Amino acid sequence: MLGLLRRITQEVTAAQSLPAALDIIVRRVRRAMRAEVCSIYLVDPNSQDYILMATRGLNSEVAGQASLKPDEGLVSLVGRRAEPVNLEDAHSHPSFHYLKGTGEERYQSFLGVPIIHHRQVLGVLVVQHEDKRRFDEGEEAFLITLSAQLAGVIAHAEATGAMTSLNSNAKPEGDLRYKGIAGSSGVAIAKAIVVYPPADLNVIPDRKVDDIEAELSAFNAALLAVRKDIKKAGNRLSKHLSSDEKALFDVYLKMLDDNALAYEIEQKIRGGNWAQGALREVIQFHISHFDRMDDPYLRERASDLRDLGRRILSHLQENAPNLADRFSESAIIVGEELTASMLGEVPLDKIKGLVSVMGSGNSHVAILARAMGIPTVMGALDLPYTQLENVDMIIDGYQGQVFTYPSDTLIESFQQIVDEEKALEEEYLTLKDLPCETCDGHRLSLFVNTGLSADIWRSLDRGAEGIGLYRTEVPFMVRERFPTEAEQVAIYRQQLEGFAPAPVTVRTLDIGGDKALPYFPINEENPFLGWRGIRVTLDHLEIFLAQIRAMIKASSGLHNLKILLPMISNVAEVEDALALVRRAYAEIKEEGYDVKMPEVGVMIEVPAAVYQVKQLASLVDFMSVGSNDLTQYLLAVDRNNPRVADLYNSFHPAVLRALLNIVIEAQHESISLSVCGEMAGDPMGAILLMAMGYDILSMSATSLPKVKAVIRNITEEQAQLMLEQVISLAHADAVVQTMNRLMREANIERLVRPSKSKSSK
Ligand code: PEP
Ligand code: MG
Repeated sequence: MLGLLRRITQEVTAAQSLPAALDIIVRRVRRAMRAEVCSIYLVDPNSQDYILMATRGLNSEVAGQASLKPDEGLVSLVGRRAEPVNLEDAHSHPSFHYLKGTGEERYQSFLGVPIIHHRQVLGVLVVQHEDKRRFDEGEEAFLITLSAQLAGVIAHAEATGAMTSLNSNAKPEGDLRYKGIAGSSGVAIAKAIVVYPPADLNVIPDRKVDDIEAELSAFNAALLAVRKDIKKAGNRLSKHLSSDEKALFDVYLKMLDDNALAYEIEQKIRGGNWAQGALREVIQFHISHFDRMDDPYLRERASDLRDLGRRILSHLQENAPNLADRFSESAIIVGEELTASMLGEVPLDKIKGLVSVMGSGNSHVAILARAMGIPTVMGALDLPYTQLENVDMIIDGYQGQVFTYPSDTLIESFQQIVDEEKALEEEYLTLKDLPCETCDGHRLSLFVNTGLSADIWRSLDRGAEGIGLYRTEVPFMVRERFPTEAEQVAIYRQQLEGFAPAPVTVRTLDIGGDKALPYFPINEENPFLGWRGIRVTLDHLEIFLAQIRAMIKASSGLHNLKILLPMISNVAEVEDALALVRRAYAEIKEEGYDVKMPEVGVMIEVPAAVYQVKQLASLVDFMSVGSNDLTQYLLAVDRNNPRVADLYNSFHPAVLRALLNIVIEAQHESISLSVCGEMAGDPMGAILLMAMGYDILSMSATSLPKVKAVIRNITEEQAQLMLEQVISLAHADAVVQTMNRLMREANIERLVRPSKSKSSK
């Protein structure tokens, strides 16, 4: 059963279009359930009618036309109830409605199950029999399981426009809108450039090319190189193989014959796709074919094909232009899963915006984007990104939405927002040298979070009073091996010197979770609860000590270093780390450097630390709250997973209560306390944190002027009244809505973002 379910899902996923996918479903389900009829109805997003999209058993000529009103027939009953309806005599049911032209009158028994994706009914899957007999529980369970698995595939196919291709006038219309998650505020209007990780055939996008001959010759060169590789491998191993086994290499070579795969790929290239896209199309098509076979020997041939595809791809990619060369003008980077290292490959002034299909607003790539002020949308799960190369698009980083093929009217209205943003930026610049002080004289210190060296100058330009969090994993990520101690000294020195005499808080390496080093892979089932942050570095003393030594040496003569320890979940970790810092300091001092013992602090970002503020305070000099991870761990919501992004909310009452407890405890222990998570850079968050008693906030350089503008326009008393009104609310949404209203009434909403960006077309 499991194998059958898997094979059907694989087949459907590999289908080239929505109609093809639906046809596979009805064909395969009818056979698997030995039903006389299997049909699929999808909800028309405009009329809400149920349209018969595909059928085996009923009259397929009416598919695409026959439809039921939202309150008509058993199909819509399944949809309205969002649960299965299983009847042995459908005709006698009060909701039965004969759908003309389908030939349905012969069938008595009926089982319909809803197709639900993200709480929304997309359609109904139906099986029918002529006999009066109820489908048994096993059959019902099978259909429910299959429908749940297929819902995502259907939703994706629908959202990507495949649904419209059923109609004859199928070319993409303007203003196609895709929902995602706000990653970094701002609006960008530009063409898309699609990026993908190397050597992965599945993520290769389609790309229209004009110079077909050039693509053909690149493909033929790659083919020649692969043939050579295979012959060489065959010869090398020939001594050790029997003639049967040697024949396998000939099979390989035959697959690459001019009449076989190569011919098909060439045809696709002649059709206008680039060589890599044509290769993906053909290889995927054949793989799905082999995967479907019941014979295990033949199914294994899929892995040969996969291997061949990868080999050809790697030769094609060897000579492909690198990412930076593809940017003749600035563009929006679109990819399935954008990573921090990809950003490092493109000159920053060429990046207008970012769209990542995976990830969410608290993924590290989004945090970097905010630091660099690049409008970003994350988690745009339904975006047909492989088809968007060079397509015009608008991204709205305020609302987390993407528009492709935008109309002139839409471009105009978003251009207005871009202009207003510019004006606001200029207004912010005037604040650079003014203190961050409320109208009634309460002073707050605004620090900056950094990662790249470019951040230093942007932060100084914006009036940052120090670095509250330097994420050292960023320079580690953009390399191909661990930086040496001397290299690290140079990197840290830039930050320390740039800000001296102001304090610079350098955090020890916080890898693991969603921050992977390409040269130090950590593969875990549950990475956010695994080997991460201080847990890794305490297990690798050579990495930890080299880093601490580099930090202390880099502070020589400046004396403005503070060391921050991430992911602390128990007191022993702090004791161990402190002993190592003291040891490194003593050694460096002995070596004759002009250094002082740095202040050492811990991040409060794991719930356990919230309840040990007192014990931790007795060991360290300062504390910094990581609201990003604290939210993730307190709410048990992966900060990186778009599927649960709606649940990730730093304004959840439990998070607010934890933040309040931390500050009360810390004040009791008279220990210096700051917040360096993203909440500090959100004007709404900054107001509430200030009202709770936090007086150092650390944020991206982009957010800093915005937060300063807001704080300078309210009184401390106003902020406290706002906190009082929201702290005992039960829902995160109520907190946000109330704060929005209070900020509007206090006349500070205008400072936060330009005229509300459009939430729909
Ligand atoms: C945090 O968790 O809030 C934080 C500042 O650290 P990071 O986002 O790098 O995990
Ligand atoms: Mg963290």
